[in-house]
Amino acid sequence: MTSRFNDMPIKNKLTMMIMGTTTIVVIIAFLAFFVYQLDATWQDNKNKLTSVARITGLNVAAAITFHEQQSAADTLAALSVEPSVLAAFVIKPNGQIFAQYRSLSGMANKHVQEPSPKIDELIAEASTESFWSFDKDLEAVEPIIFDHQQIGLVIIRSQPTNLLAKTRWFIEFTAGILALIFIIIYFLSSRLQQVISGPILHLVEIMRTISEQKNYCLRVKKETNDEVGTLFDGFNEMLENIETRDKQLELHRENLEQQIALRTNDLSDTNRKLEDMIVELKLAKETAETASKAKSEFLSNMSHEIRTPLHAVLGMTELLDHTELTEEQRKLLTTIHSAGKTLIGLISNILDFSKIEAGKMVLDYVAIDLLSTFNETIAPIVQMAEQKGLKVEICIEGTDGLLVLVDPTRLKQILTNLIYNAVKFTVQGKISVHSSLRRQSDNNADLLIEVTDTGIGISTDAKATIFDSFTQEDGSTTRKYGGTGLGLAITKKLVSLMGGEISIESELGKGSTFLVIIPCQTQNKPLTVEATPDCAADRKEIKGTSILVVEDNADNQNVVRQMLEMFGFRVDIAGNGLQACEMTAHATYDLILMDCQMPVMDGFEATRSIRERERLTGAHTNIVALTGNVVTKDLEQCLIAGMDDYLGKPFSLQEIHTMAMKWLPAQDGTADRNDDNRDEAWQGSAEVT
Ligand code: ADP
Repeated sequence: MTSRFNDMPIKNKLTMMIMGTTTIVVIIAFLAFFVYQLDATWQDNKNKLTSVARITGLNVAAAITFHEQQSAADTLAALSVEPSVLAAFVIKPNGQIFAQYRSLSGMANKHVQEPSPKIDELIAEASTESFWSFDKDLEAVEPIIFDHQQIGLVIIRSQPTNLLAKTRWFIEFTAGILALIFIIIYFLSSRLQQVISGPILHLVEIMRTISEQKNYCLRVKKETNDEVGTLFDGFNEMLENIETRDKQLELHRENLEQQIALRTNDLSDTNRKLEDMIVELKLAKETAETASKAKSEFLSNMSHEIRTPLHAVLGMTELLDHTELTEEQRKLLTTIHSAGKTLIGLISNILDFSKIEAGKMVLDYVAIDLLSTFNETIAPIVQMAEQKGLKVEICIEGTDGLLVLVDPTRLKQILTNLIYNAVKFTVQGKISVHSSLRRQSDNNADLLIEVTDTGIGISTDAKATIFDSFTQEDGSTTRKYGGTGLGLAITKKLVSLMGGEISIESELGKGSTFLVIIPCQTQNKPLTVEATPDCAADRKEIKGTSILVVEDNADNQNVVRQMLEMFGFRVDIAGNGLQACEMTAHATYDLILMDCQMPVMDGFEATRSIRERERLTGAHTNIVALTGNVVTKDLEQCLIAGMDDYLGKPFSLQEIHTMAMKWLPAQDGTADRNDDNRDEAWQGSAEVT
């Protein structure tokens, strides 16, 4: 209801409010007047009746005194001239009715009963009457006085006909007047409301036009100086502000458009330049990629080219070592062998470093037994230390029953670098290697490796840069101890790759401690099964077995041939892949040792060709790659080409023997071509890279 009123047009609201207010006021005024009129009429009636009662009392006083009841009744009967009188009673002081009169309507009216015999009550009742007692008849009670004595009472009851008639008339009159007033009020209010609503409607109209046409030049016409006038002033001022702002905006927009046009031109220029730059950058990127590829290829080739002659040098020295030599000659040979080994280590370091720098170092996680990995790694260095007269303490704790998931090759590399340095930089005293697993949860632990020596120590200044590549404490270190300054840089990068940290504590002249912490996963060692003796190895007979060595370098051909023949193998040599294919087409070999990079046809191509042919015959000859390239890419290529295993150059007598025995077919004729064997071999390839 309220919301309907709120939503009404202001015009209607004002009309309703004026009409409502006026109507209420008029009704209240009429009601007051009506009550007043009613009371006046009632008083009038009452007075009249009282006068009649008093006159009647005077007239019946003699009749009471002389007990002339008929005379009193006649006097009362004279009241019949007043039609409103319903009944009249003359009552003696003892309460007895002395005479009475009832009009015809009084007789018909049942509630006109005889008065109470108690005079006091009658008088009291008469005095409480008022015009509000609509349901009651009018009653006048007057004492009859004779000779200063009350000799009775006159009671006259009358019907308030006048009153009712007046009321009815009044209501009809009021309704008529009200209707008239209502029409006049409506007429006036609909005119008057225009004084208020007119300007507001004008404002609304202007507002609507502005919002539809967006024309802020329009203004409202102010006609009064009241609040509405002030509102109009405010509204006009607001419109003026908007108009001014619009003009400013328009100006600004024009400016902006000019600026945008300028900027667009600039941007187009910049865009063109950028596009040119992108083309240049693309070219530069392609050049860089080509250069990077060339660098990788160069590294790969260099690795191959250096390893190949080194292989010959190391192989020959090893073979020479198995011949009769003088003490002096043997010493010289040992020096040549150790220099060759150092050179190999150097090449490996450079390759590793460039791989890490290029972000191509990928870790290969394997679950290993920490104790045996440590023992394998430390054993050769311990020998070196003992030869130097250094004491070595090794303590490995907390690894019982556990396998640790790490990249074993890289872990060995870290250990070797640290322990080798400790031995290298310690003249006397001891080296201690302490390792433990600090459990973090059921399957997670931190692997702690602490390598301590009593060597020359590292100065505080040098400690800050010791892990940077090509950094040594001072130039004299190279002269005195040798080295490239790459070992610790590689170690630090490997530790970081594994998610670990390396730190150093050292004091000049007192020694150093390198602490490595590597987070790793652990798993319980499976229950050890009693190792069954390698029957296949037992069943392998060297005598009479033929091995085809595919190698282009004459020196290496010699080395491999002599090494194998030393064990009793029969050896044929092919100078390249094509020759190998031809030779294997005419003869059957127990094993092929295949170099990878060769002129005419390389080892990959030759292997693919041999495997293709074997697909038709169903035969399988194991092929082991002999490669100087130990980068993952090349080893993967070997696997894809169909080779079974690889042997990195340079290899020792022991290594080539182990490899040959691993891949020779068993004596009973069953080829030792075990897929697990092959998988294991190729898993190892990732470790070597
Ligand atoms: P390299 O040993 O080939 O020079 P590293 O990176 O392994 O390269 O070591 C860098 C330098 O850090 C060494 O030249 C040496 O000055 C110092 N250094 C490394 N380990 C030790 C150590 N245990 N005691 C004293 N100095 C060390």
